[in-house]
Amino acid sequence: MTNRIKNATPHMTRNEDLIFERSKPGKTGAELRPLDVPARSAERTLGDLYRRDIEGFPEISELDVMRHFTRLSTWNYSIDAGVYPLGSCTMKYNPRLNETVARFAGLGTDHPYTPEQLSQGCLKVLADTQRALLEITGMDAISLQPAAGAQGELTGLLMIRACLRERGDARRFILVPDSAHGTNPASVTISGYEALPLKSDSRGCVDLAELERLMSTEVAGLMLTNPNTLGIFEQDIQKICEIVHIKGGLVYMDGANMNALVGVAQPGRFGIDVMHLNLHKTFSTPHGGGGPGSGPVAVKRVLEPYLPAPTVEEQPDGSVRLNYDRPRSVGRVRAFYGNFGMAVRALAYILAYGPEGLRQATEDAVLNANYVKERIRECYDLPYDAPSMHECVFSDKRQESRGVRTGDIAKRLIDYGFHPYTTSFPLIVHGALMIEPTESAGKVELDALIDALRSIAQEAQESPELVQTAPHTTRVSRLDEVGAARKPVLRWKPAAP
Ligand SMILES: *Cc1c(COP(=O)(O)O)cnc(C)c1O
Repeated sequence: MTNRIKNATPHMTRNEDLIFERSKPGKTGAELRPLDVPARSAERTLGDLYRRDIEGFPEISELDVMRHFTRLSTWNYSIDAGVYPLGSCTMKYNPRLNETVARFAGLGTDHPYTPEQLSQGCLKVLADTQRALLEITGMDAISLQPAAGAQGELTGLLMIRACLRERGDARRFILVPDSAHGTNPASVTISGYEALPLKSDSRGCVDLAELERLMSTEVAGLMLTNPNTLGIFEQDIQKICEIVHIKGGLVYMDGANMNALVGVAQPGRFGIDVMHLNLHKTFSTPHGGGGPGSGPVAVKRVLEPYLPAPTVEEQPDGSVRLNYDRPRSVGRVRAFYGNFGMAVRALAYILAYGPEGLRQATEDAVLNANYVKERIRECYDLPYDAPSMHECVFSDKRQESRGVRTGDIAKRLIDYGFHPYTTSFPLIVHGALMIEPTESAGKVELDALIDALRSIAQEAQESPELVQTAPHTTRVSRLDEVGAARKPVLRWKPAAP
């Protein structure tokens, strides 16, 4: 943005130097008084680990360190700063109550090696979380071990494999719809199966005729996301499961996006055999920035023997124990109890909302997605027109003739103060705009998002260049994304003198 006032320069924080570049020899962040007790030699205590000088270590005052990192923190966008409509990611508010509970003494600080008898409180939290998730999903048994959705997928597929092998029926393929999340075919490959793509029909759903054609005794199962990544509920789910079961296969449901089902529909009644949940999406535990996540995997009786060991089991006397005696288990997939703190947060969320609250959250999330869809459909192309569940997916077809693509619109959205939606996914929509408002956005915020998207659609027609070169209001302008992906520079080095 140009400066209207001559000679005014942007505040120095617009071009913050790196902490290394701000370093001045001799500056220090701490001034400690001389010791009045005998010094214990750091060299002796630390041995080989002791470093007198670390090359290039920044020397900087306490105040400058504070200001540097505080300023940097304001460059970020976060769920606490505003709407985060990143489709398929369920960026809902992370209630502070969860954080408080996760830090309770005993929950936040118990050591994972504490003996079972002394960890009854923590084990009870796990057992309660399991029971709540089983009630929500309508499944029979569950493991909280997997640390992410993708790890839950892998665990579920390994269980399908173990089950079929025991029947002497090792198979080769897993069917994966062409609308699937990228982790699905990846998990299939890692589990030792081959992904067999299943084309969607004109509604954007599973094509039953195509499924019948491909489903054979070489196919171990189907991996299905429901609601699918277009935000459309697969209404033929029971028929789909039947087709797979008749040929001896099993059905995996990717339940990462349970935000449209919780409290309203139990996938356990759809006919599926195994599913995972993303606690860091639907159940409000924080995500983004690399974790920690949690991807519990829930099964029907048929797969129960294969759950990762140990399982957390409630005893008739009310105590909880870890059961390692599971000879048919696929084994451990994660150290200790999985990401325990995520289970605490998810349980706090579930208990704080209660059955009514969870259902209300689901209904609000669905309402919000449909509201956004109805209010921008006159500006953007809607390739699959069906009632939306948790999210809605548009394409950039109407803007493309002006040379404006989904990535440009997303960058322009940053100028309007919003985090972008998900771009270019699912792959079956050319130039996709995938928008998931979640229940966290109130009407005022949603209207602001809608106004921004409508305004950008107009800009794309009237001044496409403005959109193509966005963002214009950020500290850092458009990055070379290809360069960043292909030739990443991950470490700072001093410029050659
Ligand atoms: C987010 C997501 C995943 C993967 O979950 P991670 O925790 O990121 O591994 C899988 N499937 C769908 C549909 C998702 O939205």
